[in-house]
Amino acid sequence: MTQLLPATPENIALAAQVIQNGGLVAFPTETVYGLGANALDVNALSGIFTAKGRPTADPLIVHLSGAEHTPLIARSVPETAHRLMQAFWPGPLTLILPRQPAVPDLVTSGLETVAVRVPNHPVALALLQAAGLPLAAPSANRFGHTSPTTAQHVWHDLHGRIDLILDGGAATIGVESTVLDVSTAPARILRPG
Ligand code: AMP
Ligand code: MG
Repeated sequence: MTQLLPATPENIALAAQVIQNGGLVAFPTETVYGLGANALDVNALSGIFTAKGRPTADPLIVHLSGAEHTPLIARSVPETAHRLMQAFWPGPLTLILPRQPAVPDLVTSGLETVAVRVPNHPVALALLQAAGLPLAAPSANRFGHTSPTTAQHVWHDLHGRIDLILDGGAATIGVESTVLDVSTAPARILRPG
């Protein structure tokens, strides 16, 4: 059973509990709707791949409530990355950094690097703060389908496969984040956003 609820403070608190219990919650970001799970819980992470039908060779982006939590996920943060975070976070820029060993292989698909960003959306930030956890969150669609920009779009694609959808209105940008690899110098754009 999938619940579709407006993103009120009460429902965001409920969604945070679902995340803490290992569940899957779709939520709005400024780019597209994400399908979030506790990035440190292997069972929750495998639920993402099952719900989406996504191959585990495709790594996930870890979403944080603020840049200060980056050391939980990334082993080191180069000076360039610090400056980019200050300039572009919260916002649609994903940075590839050396991973912390505690980050599960399902997040990185076994790579030595991890993708991290702070989304610029009040509902996404409120959920991240209430859960108190990093959220691995790919786009909230079945693998190969278009990334969703509304809660109804998520419902259409994933109802019956995830626990909860928070409806926070349409995602404004509608295009995925830019992915920039800053784990090596010079930095490289892996995905234009
Ligand atoms: P999605 O979550 O569907 O927006 O896709 C996330 C994308 O981020 C992946 O398909 C990769 O292109 C990229 N990505 C995530 N983690 C890494 C990583 N460690 N190294 C390089 N690219 C990554
Ligand atoms: Mg996607």
